[in-house]
Amino acid sequence: MIDIPALAAAFQNKYGNKPRLFRAPGRVNLIGEHTDYNEGFVLPMAIDQQTIAAISPRPDRMLQVWSMNLSETAELNLDALGPGRRGNWLDYIEGTAAALMASGASMTGANIAIQSDIALGGGLSSSAALEISLAKALLSISNSPMDNLSLTLAGQTAEHVHVGINSGIMDQFTSVHSSAGHAILLDCRSIKSRFIPLNLKGYRILVCNSRVKHSLASSEYNQRRRDCERGVKMLRSLLPEIRSLRDVSISDFSKYKSILPDFVLRCCRHVITENARTLKAADALETGDITEMGALMSASHQSLRDDYLVSCPELDLLVNSAESQPGVLGARMTGGGFGGCTVSMVKESAIENFKENVAHQYHVETGLIPDIFVVSASNGASEIPI
Ligand code: ADP
Ligand code: MG
Repeated sequence: MIDIPALAAAFQNKYGNKPRLFRAPGRVNLIGEHTDYNEGFVLPMAIDQQTIAAISPRPDRMLQVWSMNLSETAELNLDALGPGRRGNWLDYIEGTAAALMASGASMTGANIAIQSDIALGGGLSSSAALEISLAKALLSISNSPMDNLSLTLAGQTAEHVHVGINSGIMDQFTSVHSSAGHAILLDCRSIKSRFIPLNLKGYRILVCNSRVKHSLASSEYNQRRRDCERGVKMLRSLLPEIRSLRDVSISDFSKYKSILPDFVLRCCRHVITENARTLKAADALETGDITEMGALMSASHQSLRDDYLVSCPELDLLVNSAESQPGVLGARMTGGGFGGCTVSMVKESAIENFKENVAHQYHVETGLIPDIFVVSASNGASEIPI
């Protein structure tokens, strides 16, 4: 939890005046993995971990930025923003300011302090929380209003252009649009969304951070994207109306899958079945069928592990260990894979036992201590009144 009075005091101490504060949450994806770039469905929720941008205007065109997490400061000139791609946190700052200006916002200089209680680089989207909290802050002090979809797209553009990661829309969308107590079913083709009430009936969502991040993640990601595209091309010879894997039904896939090479078949099977699971999961949550939700999460993990091949021993260990605990309905890796976090659906009364046993088993087998915590579905980005 961020100590808000302490943050405001640290800001005043450094910059000599009182800040306004803007928060944006991290997120966890409950189900729907590697479906976003196939124009499919995802089911994320904002979590009760967030980034806060403290800000006050300056009379000049400079952005003075202080990351309290990294204990680093930097300076950027709004009239001379560079192309980014330094490979560090300033790319996100520069990218966000540049994307806002490119979409027509006028900007004033500012003193800024950033603090987050989301693990940086842990798969809970500290990057989108940084972009969105900063964007809200910059727009507000510049009296430059922007609608939520443009704000979402500006965050994504910052990652595409200045960071150099071709990520989907889920992270920024969730950080902007969420509503407490709800997940969001997001159609990544139309960017239409629906709030799904989380009536968890005495169960809670636990996140386990594996604290590993294997370096093959980005090359494997690009490879999977290519294999999905190859699958669409080949299937189009028999199903001319399809535009992406989103358009292929499970029954058509069963009929025509034999034309695909084995590894393409597996990639396509994951995406097509994962889309179906995600829609079912939204229904299950809406009708309060938590047992079904848990089963779908576990099936999602198996598909990511055995067909899409994006899990790793640490994630499998956390999922297997979770599923062998009492009071657990399901568990899966979440995020791109090759490290990061898992999510589990755990009965309230079984949480302490879960934390102890899973952490112990993980430590014995890997030498690492995982971070295990309950997450609650939170509201999207907003100003914090002082
Ligand atoms: P994730 O979004 O899952 O946390 P990413 O690799 O997408 O992982 O983004 C993490 C990066 O975002 C960090 O390495 C850092 O460059 C930047 N970042 C996020 N939050 C902060 C922060 N509070 N201060 C400075 N940089 C941050
Ligand atoms: Mg990120």
